[in-house]
Amino acid sequence: DITVGVKNLKIPKPTKPKKKLDLDSIFSNEKPNLSFAVIGHVDAGKSTLMGMFLKSLNKVNKNFLKKLEDESARAGKKSFALAWIMDQTIDERQRGVTVDICTTAVDTNEANFIIIDAPGHKDYVPRMISGLSQADIGLLIIDANYDGFESGFSYDGQTKEHALLSYSLGMKKLVIVMNKLDMIDYDEERYNDIEKRLREFLVNDVGFTQEQLIFVPVSGIDGTNVSKKPTIKSLTSWYPNCKPTLLEILENEAKVLHAANESSKSIFEEKFLFQISDISTDYHQASEFSITGRVNSGFIQTGETVISSPGGLPLQIDSIKTPESDASKDIEVYKERDCTVKFDNNVFLFFKDKKAKDELKSNIDLVRSGDLLSKVSVDDAGVIASTIKFNCELNLFDLRDIPLLPGSKVLVHSGGQERPAEITQFLYLIDSEKKKKKKKRILHLGSYKRAVVEVKLIDESTKLPRPIPLMTFENDERLGRIVFRRDGITIGAGKILELL
Ligand code: GDP
Repeated sequence: DITVGVKNLKIPKPTKPKKKLDLDSIFSNEKPNLSFAVIGHVDAGKSTLMGMFLKSLNKVNKNFLKKLEDESARAGKKSFALAWIMDQTIDERQRGVTVDICTTAVDTNEANFIIIDAPGHKDYVPRMISGLSQADIGLLIIDANYDGFESGFSYDGQTKEHALLSYSLGMKKLVIVMNKLDMIDYDEERYNDIEKRLREFLVNDVGFTQEQLIFVPVSGIDGTNVSKKPTIKSLTSWYPNCKPTLLEILENEAKVLHAANESSKSIFEEKFLFQISDISTDYHQASEFSITGRVNSGFIQTGETVISSPGGLPLQIDSIKTPESDASKDIEVYKERDCTVKFDNNVFLFFKDKKAKDELKSNIDLVRSGDLLSKVSVDDAGVIASTIKFNCELNLFDLRDIPLLPGSKVLVHSGGQERPAEITQFLYLIDSEKKKKKKKRILHLGSYKRAVVEVKLIDESTKLPRPIPLMTFENDERLGRIVFRRDGITIGAGKILELL
């Protein structure tokens, strides 16, 4: 039984969009999209680099930038202004709206980007995981200064864990941004040495192929080779202008991804899937409520009907709104939309349905954050398969000397949900050649081992855990990713292979 809450799920009827839109023209000349997660060790220069990225694309409000520059001059370090661009934009956004991850949308003539910030702080790990699960590629920022790289790469460093996460979650490419090169006068030897060491590690220990790795030299603070061709001799002598800037690399990856998607599926063939981050019934009108979240795939128009999974509650969309983020203003401005766009983030779906609102209030299980909405159409009731048991590929990280046993309890993080679970069976070991090896009995799994395992959700309070709507990685690369945590530490990650 895939539904909870609703006893006799009636197959809901699809409803027509309120307006007739020229969808072909809305979606045909779309620029390619790319979402990238910014990862790396604390102090590698992630915020500074992204601030420079936005500034060099003229995406930062002039007054806002001036304010930040004045403040940072007063604080005694001019460069702080750059790092604050990202931080403050995010702060502003969090004020009025519930954001589950830190994303910033930015477009150029060539592509639309979604920058996903992965906060390094421990409290933000679930958020970082949500962010990483959404990213097409990873941007691994490396402090290339003489001991910067070594400290990020050490036993405790986040560089390794982030690289493992990116690989395990199935990111297509990893762009390794060699940052802070201004501090070592663009030392080519140092650059090559780090590249060689990272390649060895990322290919031999992590599992990436050489072709998945792209290296680029930059200085986030000076903006060298970020979006403009470098002019500094000590860099151009070995990195000539025919080689790409960071921006060119990202634009190119957006095109590569777009071309790959084109050949497989168009947006019209995609199933509309919406990942819920918040539900609010707190409106004056007795019938009004909203569901906030992000578009995972496909699109939806006002007037159409969606259904929640696993709750099975059909709902007709009255209006669609998105907050316009203007960090220079203190208020959030909402824009009405007739239709969502690709990978829309922070979308508010509004409903006017007294009966559904009353149901939602009396049964919180009908729609919860982390659940999915999908579109009801003529040939598809919409509901997504939900389960409490599944098989997945698991790549383990550092287990800190506590091996995984059959029956080990963990937290699994999938889509927007984090749930307690038990690893019920070890099915196969995966060897270094990525082949599955069946062993009679696998008694335990140690650090950095790879295996196919069976996982079952558990619930301490009630007997039956609430099912979770899931997709296999094969069917949906974003929703088919899963991360395992234990005692506040990320111990592994992987792809969902089969729902049981
Ligand atoms: P994060 O923790 O990775 O976000 O790192 P920040 O962006 O906060 O930067 C950490 C420190 O490194 C700050 O003091 C920055 O001013 C400095 N920094 C960042 N990028 C560069 C760079 O390209 N060159 C130099 N010289 N310093 C940098």
